[in-house]
Amino acid sequence: MEDRVLDTLIIGGGPAGLTAALYAGRAGLRAVLVEKAAPGGQIATTDLVDNYPGFPDGILGPELSERMEKQARRFGTEIVFDEVTGLVREDGAWTVRAMGGEWRSRTVILATGAHERKLGVPGEDEFRGRGVSYCAICDGAFFKGRHVAVVGGGDSALTEGMYLTRICERVTIIHRRDELRAAKEIQERAFQNPKIDWLWSTQVTAIEGDQGVRRLRLRSTKDGTESTLDVDGVFIYVGMVPQTEFLRGVVALNEAGYVLTDADLRTSAEAVWAAGDVRAGSLAQVATAVGEGTIAALEAESYLAKLDAGKKPAWDVDIQGPVAGAVAAAGAGRIATPAGSAEARP
Ligand SMILES: Cc1cc2nc3c(=O)[nH]c(=O)nc-3n(C[C@H](O)[C@H](O)[C@H](O)COP(=O)(O)OP(=O)(O)OC[C@H]3O[C@@H](n4cnc5c(N)ncnc54)[C@H](O)[C@@H]3O)c2cc1C
Repeated sequence: MEDRVLDTLIIGGGPAGLTAALYAGRAGLRAVLVEKAAPGGQIATTDLVDNYPGFPDGILGPELSERMEKQARRFGTEIVFDEVTGLVREDGAWTVRAMGGEWRSRTVILATGAHERKLGVPGEDEFRGRGVSYCAICDGAFFKGRHVAVVGGGDSALTEGMYLTRICERVTIIHRRDELRAAKEIQERAFQNPKIDWLWSTQVTAIEGDQGVRRLRLRSTKDGTESTLDVDGVFIYVGMVPQTEFLRGVVALNEAGYVLTDADLRTSAEAVWAAGDVRAGSLAQVATAVGEGTIAALEAESYLAKLDAGKKPAWDVDIQGPVAGAVAAAGAGRIATPAGSAEARP
């Protein structure tokens, strides 16, 4: 247990949290960042980040993660490896509980991002780690010279599919629609890749095998026709789920579980901001996560400056939609999770 009250506690060490840590440290705030896995978040397991400014030839995700962590540490923010399990507002500050202890902090920045959504089909859990993967950069090497499937039609599915063609003999991309969601430029590169086959309007209904994955059961989303595809592995990229279970009842979330904020990234709970992929309306990019981490840290700094000057900062959060009533009733910063949603982030 931290024996002094921190200025800010940042939950999550992806691009949003590490940037908030950098700004908090530079502003001279007593700050701690708590990360439950590895610094870098989703980019720690991403191959090439091609669209982050300043790297004209792109940069590997693990290298960008390492650089962000190093820069955040340079300005004095302490990075602790632990998993936050809850937070409660008591006596004008937040008590943040983690598996290994707890802290008291005057402000909190939520930067817990999102993790991969499961397909939810038979065999998915059984073969996880034995042919079912959600991370090409982590597991691709196990499939050298093999045939793998990638499920999904967004940027991640295509980018990671292209990465896998460098290792695997063949990559079949399976998409349940007949057009992709991925950015046009990424689509064009994928269409030109001779090692990629496409299965359109097709759903995976089961993953089967013995010691490892051997085949996928498929169904046409157009006419219901059933078929099978022999593969040695399957990489699943069908969307993301926000990491907010521990925030239920603490801040207002939308129906999909993303944190609702106002334009200054304030949540419904006093002195708590949200930044990056965890936020409803986020664009789920490294560049936007970094920008939001910056805003959250600067807003927290300005809130603390007012407090230290003896002024009571206003917390008149304007979140549109069905949460408004719940927010108004939030008194001590703890409210019931609303059923409705103001944002339509997938
Ligand atoms: C395969 C793939 C490829 C991508 N490629 C690109 C790309 O090329 N360009 C681009 O701009 N974006 C890309 N993205 C998206 C980009 O990685 C995300 O937008 C970005 O990482 C979001 O940053 P974040 O800090 O908000 O969240 P995250 O990166 O999700 O980080 C959140 C962190 O919080 C931690 N955490 C969660 N819960 C807790 C808890 N309770 N206690 C402590 N720690 C916790 C997690 O362990 C994680 O490290 C890609 C994503 C994926 C999955």
